[in-house]
Amino acid sequence: MGPPGAGKGTQGELLARRLGIPRYSTGDILRQALREGTPMGLEAKRNMHAGELVPDDVILGIVGEALEHEDSEPGFLLDGFPRTVAQAEGLSRLLSDRGQQLDAIVDMSVPDEEIMKRLSTRGRKDDLLETIKRRLEVYGAKKQPLLDWYANSGVRIVSVMGVGDIDEIQAYILDCLSL
Ligand code: ADP
Repeated sequence: MGPPGAGKGTQGELLARRLGIPRYSTGDILRQALREGTPMGLEAKRNMHAGELVPDDVILGIVGEALEHEDSEPGFLLDGFPRTVAQAEGLSRLLSDRGQQLDAIVDMSVPDEEIMKRLSTRGRKDDLLETIKRRLEVYGAKKQPLLDWYANSGVRIVSVMGVGDIDEIQAYILDCLSL
């Protein structure tokens, strides 16, 4: 978890490589669908460009499909998902059908000013100032209910400040996860 521009993708890739597990980013999958002009991409386009969330059923469909091709062992890393309580509930159903459970959530925090600075120089299509602001607002509104839901279900939550040296942040995450 983390706001846009927190470095979830960067840290997620390092962590997945280190653990030898696949990483699924709902944002990457959606952007690919958009590039390919698939029906799902077209459906998601308006929401993505406006900085809004893509509907839960679309997202759960994506994740369900991605995991279909995945062995249960040794696991996988999810990046940018779940973002809502409904998605968390959907994930928990998917996992229990597979006889799996969530080991941990890595919750990355970065101050808003730093995010604005990072994203205004990144130049992705949805990185326009207004869209960034909206994505931050949406993230801010959804974050706490999601963390509360996971805290109630007893999942380990690792909180990380996503500012500073990339390798140091990764080392901190590995340490917290006891890896
Ligand atoms: P960021 O975290 O920078 O917003 P992502 O690449 O994770 O970037 O997501 C880009 C966009 O894709 C989001 O703004 C949203 O519209 C959509 N999206 C990605 N993941 C989800 C999700 N789990 N639920 C709803 N929408 C999502």
